Amino acid sequence: MTPAVIVHGGAGAVPEEEFAARLEVLSRARLAAWEAAAAGDAVAAVVAAVTVLEDSPLFNAGVGSALNREGFVEMDAAVMDGETRACGGVAAVRDVRNPVQLAREVMDSEHVLLAGEGASRFARERGIPACDPASLVTRRQLERWRRARRRGDGEKAGTVGAAVMDSRGRLAAATSTGGMVDKRPGRVGDTPLPGAGNYAEAGLGAASGTGYGEYFVRALATYRAVSALRQHQPQRALELAIAEVAALGGHGGMILVDAAGRSWWHHDTAAMCVAWRDAAGEGASCRR
Ligand code: ASP
Repeated sequence: MTPAVIVHGGAGAVPEEEFAARLEVLSRARLAAWEAAAAGDAVAAVVAAVTVLEDSPLFNAGVGSALNREGFVEMDAAVMDGETRACGGVAAVRDVRNPVQLAREVMDSEHVLLAGEGASRFARERGIPACDPASLVTRRQLERWRRARRRGDGEKAGTVGAAVMDSRGRLAAATSTGGMVDKRPGRVGDTPLPGAGNYAEAGLGAASGTGYGEYFVRALATYRAVSALRQHQPQRALELAIAEVAALGGHGGMILVDAAGRSWWHHDTAAMCVAWRDAAGEGASCRR
């Protein structure tokens, strides 16, 4: 069957002059996902897409991650296989260039979530080399961090994610982030938590969320959206999940692929850049 792929680069305030550059990287991530999805591997597809996005300094994930209160990077990431409901996540990792690849390794271990130093040690065991934490810091995030420190303003957009149905009908989702700028050291957001920032379930859908993570955790936002597919059309399911985040005081966006192989997205923020491809065609946009 025809696969479905949708990727995002975060919901929030994206300056218009950056739309084109972000959409170019998202289109490359979509292609990486599409190739693996066409070969029948949804999990490889979401990991491939998120790896492309983590490698781009434009997004708040991998290289270009937001800095925490003490001025260093701590990243969260997750992968989930809807078919088996297997999932893997890493939290507050400081020295891995592609946290989504480490999350993929955790998925194959006896655990679902590894944090901090233990996650780094597991990375070495699995042959993922340590990177210099300074190599993850971009001038752009350093300036943003200085501004946030002055104004107490944490607004941004740049978390990344992917949702896929492959040619065998298998669903998967992956999400990766540097988290909220100026967060406390040790803070873990919604991204690595199954059902909060990332979720996939066979027969229903796969979803990746972005926004103010604490509210996505409290709303169990991606689980909420995927579960709502039992009663609602996908667009409505996404609206209900983001409305629940908003009712708690947060905001953000979400992408979703349903079991019929269609891609969907919704956000209540000024912008959210996405690229998608499914049986109905392909597209890329920073506003719905
Ligand atoms: N959800 C992410 C977090 O709270 C941030 C984001 O999506 O912008 O860590």
